Amino acid sequence: MLKIGLTGGIGSGKTTVANIFKVLGIPVFDADTEAKRVMETDPGLQKAIIERFGAAVYAEGRLDRKYLSAIVFNDPLQLEILNALVHPFAIAAAEIWACEQQSPYVIKEAALFFETGSAIGFDYMVGVFSPQHTRIRRVMDRDQLTREEVQARMGRQIQEEIKMRLCDFVITNDDQQLLIPQVLKLHEQFLKDGKENAHV
Ligand code: ATP
Repeated sequence: MLKIGLTGGIGSGKTTVANIFKVLGIPVFDADTEAKRVMETDPGLQKAIIERFGAAVYAEGRLDRKYLSAIVFNDPLQLEILNALVHPFAIAAAEIWACEQQSPYVIKEAALFFETGSAIGFDYMVGVFSPQHTRIRRVMDRDQLTREEVQARMGRQIQEEIKMRLCDFVITNDDQQLLIPQVLKLHEQFLKDGKENAHV
């Protein structure tokens, strides 16, 4: 089974692209959702988060995301510490999940692959590229954020152009090129490679 990483900056269209792969029957692991799930459910991780960020992070036993976001989105060091705590748990969950799938290939969607050194072990990396002005507009609309808030979040990720150069394939998600034909082309290739891989 091939393992494909799907990445791109905030608002580039990763989830939109992942949803097309899902319609084609391909299992997709969403690293962001999984990271939130392990923060809610893993007692060892919860203990580590409380030790670092204080008991108020779990108000009445539930993760207070707003409180935690206010800490980490204003301090890059705190964000790095949180990511370092959560990543090993999310990576382990992704590996177990991949072993349970029956498909010629599977996809893991994550904003941070290269930033966290977790692109290792993937057969291909696919980048979703959108021009910065398009990403800002889409995230402002989607999350009801100001331009400044979106730009602050973008500033914490590595530059889009560099990220795309590190990928094996790039899907362009601007307002001109159609997404579905680009995804179908990759799907055909991954199915073919997945079959060849199964016979090695
Ligand atoms: P994040 O990293 O913030 O989770 P993402 O990379 O997963 O973002 P999406 O959520 O897929 O990006 O897309 C961002 C927003 O832009 C969404 O509201 C989505 O519906 C919209 N969008 C994405 N691609 C297109 C497109 N080709 N045409 C119109 N809207 C789009």
